[in-house]
Amino acid sequence: MRDSIRKFLRQNTFVFFTVAAVALGVILGFALRPREMSLREIKYFSFPGELLMRMLQMLVLPLIVSSLVTGMSSLDSKASGKMGVRAVVYYIVTTFIAVFIGILIVVIIKPGRGNRDSPLSSSGNVELVQAADYKTLYSKRVYQRNIMVAVNTTKFSNSSESAIPANVTRLLLQNILETVEEIVPTAGSSSGVNALGLVVFSIKGQALSEFFDCLNKAIMRLVAVIIWYAPVGILFLIAGKIVEMKDLAEVGGQLGMYTISVIVGLLIHGLIVLPLLYFLFTRRNPYMFIGGLLQALITALGTSSSSATLPVTFRCLEENNGVDKRVTRFVLPVGATINMDGTALYEAVAAIFIAQVNDMDLNFGQILTISITATAASIGAAGIPQAGLVTMVIVLTSVGLPTEDITLIIAVDWFLDRLRTTTNVLGDSLGAGIVEHLSRKELQSKDVEVGNSITEE
Ligand code: ASP
Repeated sequence: MRDSIRKFLRQNTFVFFTVAAVALGVILGFALRPREMSLREIKYFSFPGELLMRMLQMLVLPLIVSSLVTGMSSLDSKASGKMGVRAVVYYIVTTFIAVFIGILIVVIIKPGRGNRDSPLSSSGNVELVQAADYKTLYSKRVYQRNIMVAVNTTKFSNSSESAIPANVTRLLLQNILETVEEIVPTAGSSSGVNALGLVVFSIKGQALSEFFDCLNKAIMRLVAVIIWYAPVGILFLIAGKIVEMKDLAEVGGQLGMYTISVIVGLLIHGLIVLPLLYFLFTRRNPYMFIGGLLQALITALGTSSSSATLPVTFRCLEENNGVDKRVTRFVLPVGATINMDGTALYEAVAAIFIAQVNDMDLNFGQILTISITATAASIGAAGIPQAGLVTMVIVLTSVGLPTEDITLIIAVDWFLDRLRTTTNVLGDSLGAGIVEHLSRKELQSKDVEVGNSITEE
């Protein structure tokens, strides 16, 4: 008995540390709030957290390349093709389900209706501080060009006209062109890590697979070291954010209900729908699988970035859940970039919330437009903090909603970003589990052919 407890504790040490770090971060953050630290002090205070972000980000680029090269070279083109199709179908179906859940919740709860006295009821009255935050955010963000197009071409009217502005086609086209553009690799890219370019590069680089295999192992060793530091970084990332956040009183009324709507939607999708899908396909206990992912989920919560979490996601899936490395290496890098269920759900809820605040009744066609553009906007969003807030311009513009109303939800976005990123990582991970199960035939026949060199590592 004592032995099994000891074994359990040993196996879950990191998880305990990480959970404790989140709790401590919250306590420390609230304890320090009354001190009203200056921005400079907050920056110094958050330094250990920033260090973690940098460590993880440093690994993302070599990890994606080495994973894809070794992943692809360990599978024949037929097997990788089938696996790719399964992954993409899973991504699209689950993203649509997420959007559907979001729409259902926001239509039932109606967070933007009523409560006329709340600070949000007159949407023209955007707080100046928030507007300033928004500009700073956008000037830093990768989809700046999209925003500039939207800001320049959208009339900031609060009218409830439902006509689809012509510029939305341009925005969508631009978004698609940028994604296609990224398929051609360049040294850098506007969105930090050019993951799609890396995919193409990796297909071409199979001859170097041994080199990349070593590189991959070296990176995973580094991840094993960084994981020891992760709880410290997460503690300070969370505490720093709580010290920095605006007065909680602002988050009453409609904004509070909006926050609750997003949380309820994410919980239903992440803890009921996705696990159910996993069970239906694999007949295995999804919550055991999620248990093995805790470290990655908490890292997503701490960093607000699916890309930065990627190294930890790899480790959890391979080491704790025993998912075949050929699958994780092949599907995770792409999933972290394009499969964002949490972001899609949030975009749909936010757009309909803004319509409700503006007293605009949406017809079926407009709701359909929102579900399609929310899906596109989640695919277009990079796996970095608050990218979803930026791509939301596409969704709002598609149904003629005032884009400047994004400022209404900024106060809570840092928090919702953490939760939707966690859902995004969960979706990618359960997807890897499902794809592995569906591909077991191809994986087995390949085992025989190549002696399964990768999985034996
Ligand atoms: N932060 C999210 C992620 O990295 C993207 C978003 O802003 O929704 O997955």
